[in-house]
Amino acid sequence: MASLKQSLKTHFGFDSFRSKLQEDVVKAVIKGDRDVFVCMPTGAGKSLCYQLPAVMSKGIALVISPLIALIQDQVDHLRELNIPACSINSKLPAGERHVIFADLQSESPKLKLLYITPEMVASPSFQPCLTGLCSRKLLSLLAVDEAHCVSQWGHDFRPDYLKLGNLRKRLRGVPCVALTATAPQKVQKDIADSLQLRSVLSYTTPVFRSNLFYDVIFRELLEDPYAHLHAFVKETLSLSSGAKGQGCGIVYCRTRENCETVAHQLTRLGVLSKPYHAGLPAGDRTEVQSDWMQGKVLVIVATISFGMGVDKANVRFVAHWNLAKSLASYYQESGRAGRDGLPSSCRTYYSPKDKEQMNFLIRKEVARKQKKRGSQKEMDKAGITDFEAMVSFCVQESCRHATISKFFGNAVPSCSRACDFCRAPTAVRAQLEKAASLSTH
Ligand code: ADP
Ligand code: MG
Ligand code: ZN
Repeated sequence: MASLKQSLKTHFGFDSFRSKLQEDVVKAVIKGDRDVFVCMPTGAGKSLCYQLPAVMSKGIALVISPLIALIQDQVDHLRELNIPACSINSKLPAGERHVIFADLQSESPKLKLLYITPEMVASPSFQPCLTGLCSRKLLSLLAVDEAHCVSQWGHDFRPDYLKLGNLRKRLRGVPCVALTATAPQKVQKDIADSLQLRSVLSYTTPVFRSNLFYDVIFRELLEDPYAHLHAFVKETLSLSSGAKGQGCGIVYCRTRENCETVAHQLTRLGVLSKPYHAGLPAGDRTEVQSDWMQGKVLVIVATISFGMGVDKANVRFVAHWNLAKSLASYYQESGRAGRDGLPSSCRTYYSPKDKEQMNFLIRKEVARKQKKRGSQKEMDKAGITDFEAMVSFCVQESCRHATISKFFGNAVPSCSRACDFCRAPTAVRAQLEKAASLSTH
C-alpha cells in the first residue's frame, strides 16, 4: 500500500510506521467496516492511528479526549504539520468558535480533525452542529482517546465519558476507534459496552515481556529480610556490569518510614541507596532522582510517587518491599525494569501482615467513598477486587506471567522459566506450605 506510506511521509514526515501494530490499526481504521479497539503503551504512537486515517478520509474525524491541555497539544502539533485541526471547548473565545462553526456549516468544510471533550459533546450548544454534521454524512470517524476513562474499574474514571454512549447512538453509521494504554480485561469490556462497539477488531500490544523474571518471596519466612534484599540487589546488579555499564534498581515501599529504613539498611550492607518520598523537600527529591538517573546512586527506595514519566533503560530490578495496590499497578510499576530488553528481575516481598494492613486501608477508603456519595455501588468495591487479584498473584501455585497476561485479556504466553513457579514449582509449593504451617501455629 504505497500511498499509505506516502501519506505518512507527506503529512507527518515519518519514513515508516512505529510498529506493525500501528500500521495494522491505521489500515483497519481506514477500511472502516468494523470498530477498532487499540491498547498500546504510552509513547507507542496511538494518536497517529486516527490522525492518519482522518487526513486520508473524506470528511471530519471527531476526536474525544478528556483534557483540554491534552487536546491543545495535539491541535498545536497538527497545525504545525499544516493539518486542519481545531477544538471546541469551554475556553474558546466566541470569535474563534464562530469561525469554526461557519466552516462546519459550509458546503465542504476544510477541517479534518475536530477535538472535543466529552462534556462539550453533550452540551446543548454543540447539538445543532453535531446534527448538521451527521445528517450531511460529514463525519468520517469517531475516535475516543484515553478510552479507559469510561470504565468505573479503571484508575481514571470520568463520569462525562458515560455520555459517549448517547453520542454513539447518534453516530450509528460512523466507524469508531477506542484507544488506551492500560486495559485490564474488565475495563476492555466496559469500553466495548459503553461505546457499543460492533464486531470489534482488537489490536493490543502483548503484555508479556520475556526478559522480566517474576518471583515472590514470603518476607515472614526470612531470617534476615534486609540481608535477603541486599543479596538480591547484588545479584541482579552484578549480572549487568558488563560492557553496557552498571545497571540500577528500584525498591518500592508503601510508607516513608519504610523507604528510610530500607535505604539505610541497604547502604549499611554496602549498596548506596537513597530514599525518595513526598516527605522530603522537593529539592532533595530532584537531587535523588537525578543522582539515580546518572548512576551515582544505584538503588532508589521510593513510594509509588516515584516513576511516573521516568524512562531509564538499564533498570535491572524492581522490588516491592510492600504489596502493590492492584495487579494493574504492579504490572506498571514492575514494568519499569528491563526497558532495554536485557534480563531483569521483578520481585515482590509478600507478607500476610502487610496484606492485612493494606486490606484495612483499602476498606477504609471504600467506606469513606460510600459515605461521601451515600451509595453502595459495586464500583466502590473495585479497589478491593483489584487488591485481591494482587494477593492471589502472590499466593498462587502457577505461572506468574500467565496470571498477568490473562488479567489483561491476553493469551497465556510461553514463560519458559521466566518466573519462580516455572523455574522451580516445588520451591514455590514449599514456601506456601511453610507459610501455611506458620500461620496455624
Ligand atoms: P501515545 O498516544 O501512544 O502515548 P503519541 O501518539 O503521543 O503516543 O506518540 C508518541 C510519539 O511518537 C509522538 O512524538 C509521535 O510524533 C511519535 N510517533 C508516532 N508515530 C510515529 C512514527 N510512525 N514514526 C516516528 N514517530 C512516531
Ligand atoms: Mg495518547
Ligand atoms: Zn511462568
